[in-house]
Amino acid sequence: MSTETPAATPAAQPKRKRGEGQWKLGHREPLTPNERTKRDDDGLNVRARIENIYAKRGFDSIDPGDLRGRFRWWGLYTQRRPGIDGGRTATLEPEELDDRYFMLRVRSDGGALTTEQLRVLGEISQQYARNTADITDRQNIQYHWIEVESMPTIWQRLEGVGLLTTEACGDTPRVILGSPVAGISASHPVDPEPAIRTILDRYIGSKEFSNLPRKFKTAISWEQDVAHEINDISFVGVEHPEHGPGFDLWVGGGLSTNPKIATRLGAWVPLDEIPDVWAGVCGLFRDYGYRRLRHRARIKFLIADWGAEKFRQVLQDEYLGRELIDGPAPVTPDRPIDHVGVHKQRDGLNYVGLAPASGRVSGDILVALAKAAESAGSRRVRLTAQQKVVVLDVPDAAVDALVAEADGLGLQANPSPWRRATMACTGIEFCKLAIVETKERAIRLVADLEERLADIQGDIDTPVSIHLNGCPNSCARTQVADIGLKGMIVQDAEKKSVEGFQVHLGGGLGLDAGFGRKLRGLKVTSAELGEYVERVVRHYIAQREPGERFAQ
Ligand code: SF4
Repeated sequence: MSTETPAATPAAQPKRKRGEGQWKLGHREPLTPNERTKRDDDGLNVRARIENIYAKRGFDSIDPGDLRGRFRWWGLYTQRRPGIDGGRTATLEPEELDDRYFMLRVRSDGGALTTEQLRVLGEISQQYARNTADITDRQNIQYHWIEVESMPTIWQRLEGVGLLTTEACGDTPRVILGSPVAGISASHPVDPEPAIRTILDRYIGSKEFSNLPRKFKTAISWEQDVAHEINDISFVGVEHPEHGPGFDLWVGGGLSTNPKIATRLGAWVPLDEIPDVWAGVCGLFRDYGYRRLRHRARIKFLIADWGAEKFRQVLQDEYLGRELIDGPAPVTPDRPIDHVGVHKQRDGLNYVGLAPASGRVSGDILVALAKAAESAGSRRVRLTAQQKVVVLDVPDAAVDALVAEADGLGLQANPSPWRRATMACTGIEFCKLAIVETKERAIRLVADLEERLADIQGDIDTPVSIHLNGCPNSCARTQVADIGLKGMIVQDAEKKSVEGFQVHLGGGLGLDAGFGRKLRGLKVTSAELGEYVERVVRHYIAQREPGERFAQ
């Protein structure tokens, strides 16, 4: 009989807990191809290669790791190769979907532009982007058809007027959303523009935060007009009973396939402390954020696991070195504010909010709008988080002429409720992840609804929001629309596979903040969309109690 002690079987050994790829806990090993790309070379470094090599030698000289990875750190994605239908999106390799042209996103933090910047944006579109330009729901201007050879000149033109594409995409702090009427609205006691400017100057383009686990979206606004509930970090205006006006700190919002409404940390932050607190949260995300699985890397997953209390404690102890001040929740408006129409500023001038059709404009329109704004005495415009544009500082005497001129450009100050509240993402025209067409579909839908529902237009006191998305990624906020539409291939009445949408009903922000119900089997073909929305809206108008909102 053997006297040896039997060796422990593998099953008997204590199981080593698998990490989530958190740097702070020692999980430095690159765990996904994206993490490897970032470890091999910082995304910001690609700018020099674009200028010195790729722009001179052309598209075929681009290293694949740069093309599908690091280019994003400078706002560049390859656009979708034309002619590939949405049913094939998931079946092809990324290189099979790549066109030789790029989408380029330009930051306009706080949505703030001068008319000179607007004109340059328009001219770049005319000269290098086949006259394309979309206003995104993150207050960016987005071009298409950009060639790599044009990038040095485009940067020179943009940077010559103070505009950046730095970290417009990638695993970085993206454009900072801000109220289009910051500093001019009579109802804003504080203008957060200096905080936005400080964050930009200190941290954007700095390697301190150029390798985050995933994208990091910020919103800073006194007013609730920038979808703060679905950003990674938000500072929302609030009056503190002892300390006065400041900002309530929210973290961990986001949509896509795991939507989450942001969590309040219960902390009140004065204006001059916003940049430090922002950097603390960003650093915490960099160090503790999950890097093992790409689809679990947004900060919302960390918040969901830790909870607000632990997150705030770690932020205070390890990143700020002090306690944050407890603060009250902000007052919630009925609906997010879109600033469309003519409104008074606190200085007696006016701001004029204009609605293009689902954010689509062009270089010609941007140049013409810059001229019209200047003729009206303005030098400032703002992009909104609802794909709209606002002209500031318009004297009473110039309002009517500006409104008429803008109308001639397809920018309406008094739009139908359908144009006002319909948004669309990029969709299959240019986006490699798209399953269906969205932009042109949205433009046709608005025209269709204006005709179909002309008889009840006056009954719609609160616009019914309709958001069209080309895939589950929800760039145009599927889950927080009254009628949210997620692109997919569906079967029509003859059992043919056609473009269509999964419908989410009754989502919203503001008082109705929450996600729409995804009704099982509620799918509609793209061709039937107008008829479907008409049915839903007529039913809502017929059934509702006085003052009842769609989401209630
Ligand atoms: Fe592209 Fe999908 Fe985002 Fe639309 S929602 S822009 S299709 S990734």
